[in-house]
Amino acid sequence: MMESRNEAQHSVECDLCQQPVSFFCRRCTVNLCDTCIAIHLRVKSKNGHDIVDYTSKDDDDTCHCDSHPQNDCSAYCKTCDAPICILCVTIKHKSHEISELSDKIEELLKVIAKENDRLRSSKNEFEKILDHTTKMLSSISLYYKQRKDEVTARGEEWHKLIKEIVKKLHQELDDIQKEHEDVLQKQKKKFEEMIAKLDEMNGKTAKLKKSKNVKEMQIFVPVIQNHQNLNEFSQYSFPSFYECKIDPNYLQTYFGYVEKMQEKKTLLLEDELKQSELSSTRILDVPTVTSVIDTGFPASEKSKTRLYDMSVTDDNKVWMGGASRELKLFDLQGHRRHTVSITNIGMYLCMYNKQVVYSGTNAVRMISDTDTVVTMFTTGDWQPYGVTSAASGDLLVCLRKDDQNKVVRYSSTGTVLQEIQYDSLCQPLYKEVVYITENVNGDIIVTDWEKDAVIAVDRLGIFRYSYSVKDSDYDVCSVATDSVGHVVVTDCKDNKIHMLDRDGRFLRYIIPEGGINRPRAVCILGHGEMMVGESKTGIAKRIKYLDE
Ligand SMILES: [Zn+2]
Ligand SMILES: [Zn+2]
Ligand SMILES: [Zn+2]
Ligand SMILES: [Zn+2]
Repeated sequence: MMESRNEAQHSVECDLCQQPVSFFCRRCTVNLCDTCIAIHLRVKSKNGHDIVDYTSKDDDDTCHCDSHPQNDCSAYCKTCDAPICILCVTIKHKSHEISELSDKIEELLKVIAKENDRLRSSKNEFEKILDHTTKMLSSISLYYKQRKDEVTARGEEWHKLIKEIVKKLHQELDDIQKEHEDVLQKQKKKFEEMIAKLDEMNGKTAKLKKSKNVKEMQIFVPVIQNHQNLNEFSQYSFPSFYECKIDPNYLQTYFGYVEKMQEKKTLLLEDELKQSELSSTRILDVPTVTSVIDTGFPASEKSKTRLYDMSVTDDNKVWMGGASRELKLFDLQGHRRHTVSITNIGMYLCMYNKQVVYSGTNAVRMISDTDTVVTMFTTGDWQPYGVTSAASGDLLVCLRKDDQNKVVRYSSTGTVLQEIQYDSLCQPLYKEVVYITENVNGDIIVTDWEKDAVIAVDRLGIFRYSYSVKDSDYDVCSVATDSVGHVVVTDCKDNKIHMLDRDGRFLRYIIPEGGINRPRAVCILGHGEMMVGESKTGIAKRIKYLDE
């Protein structure tokens, strides 16, 4: 590399003698060799000379006066908003407000540095997106191959069905043919017999012609008189195969279709999210239970569970959902303050714009101010599970359809703003999404019951971390986050609450005084308290866990 650059430099010649260049006069823009510097400096120039090393000829780190190009600027005229030289200070700008050049430089560099910091703050995110995109590019073909395999499988399924139809119709034709042959056979036999009978009569008649046996004739007359000839002849239609018209569009609607690619834009934030102050909080060694609420939900028939989800209101009350078609509002002392009827059991709920919102059948519903159920939006053939409101003012919803799982960011009117379903390798992120929460840094965190893990993606939907415990006694249930970014996970098998930091690293267990039995629902109350619901007892415990 160095060599080629040197060669390039040496291919440039001195403007005076054609020797390889070494220096450059900025004022005269002349290339010079070692020996010609002296010659050049002797040449009179109005602006003087400014000889620099040829390699640094473009590094102009000084500023020349506009009025006196031979002079470097040494002051700043505030009145003219321009750098000026020492001559200007005493003559042209004499009566103007002059400041130190260094002050102006400091001021400008401050602005530049600030803007540069602003731009650089995005670099981490850009690099993360670049990495994500690069990985996706390298594995996207696998994704499409999998989808093509699905189409092929569908085609094979249809081929099989068509083969079965062909077989069935063949069988029908075989059956009809047999029936057809049978009737023809019978007809053949009947007419053969009839003709034989006629021949017999004819023979008898011929025989009697030559006879004088009156008695025999007397016997034969009623026989021949009563003989009934066939008076009917049945004919059978020939069954034909009617081909139904094939409409390719009609076929397609039954076969399936490929959902088009859609673009969903997420705003990139320039300022990095403020890191909350962690130093002022300390997790209590022995978390204490400050109140106990008996929610009174009945036990479900199958799993004998009662309490499923909860969400805290702005005025510090908690909506609870359980194994009945109602949501109950409790204050923190445990008094029931309100009850509303809903369309299904209260499995998943959250607060959204001061209203309580829950997942209904293929729809997200809201309780209005008049306690009526309002459908916010429907979710098509996807079934909603966990719901949570996002800091952006949107709703994040866990959705499932067959074996597919995703998280969708909806606007309040149900516009799909973002879909989170695949990782950077184009493979499904989730197997069984259940509960969901958003952390203070924008992370979207779900519990996945099939994977038995907590899975976090960032605001853009790019995988961040997965938390699980290689322990059969661990059963991840629900998840919540507090104001400093702690991730709180209920473990309903091991009667523990796991506390993680915002990067998904285990910090410690939260086991309140007196223990907690099959914790499921969880929400953060503020003031270092959380509310945790016991799935089977229907008891909710208010737990002080942070020393604030
Ligand atoms: Zn020269
Ligand atoms: Zn010069
Ligand atoms: Zn000047
Ligand atoms: Zn001036």
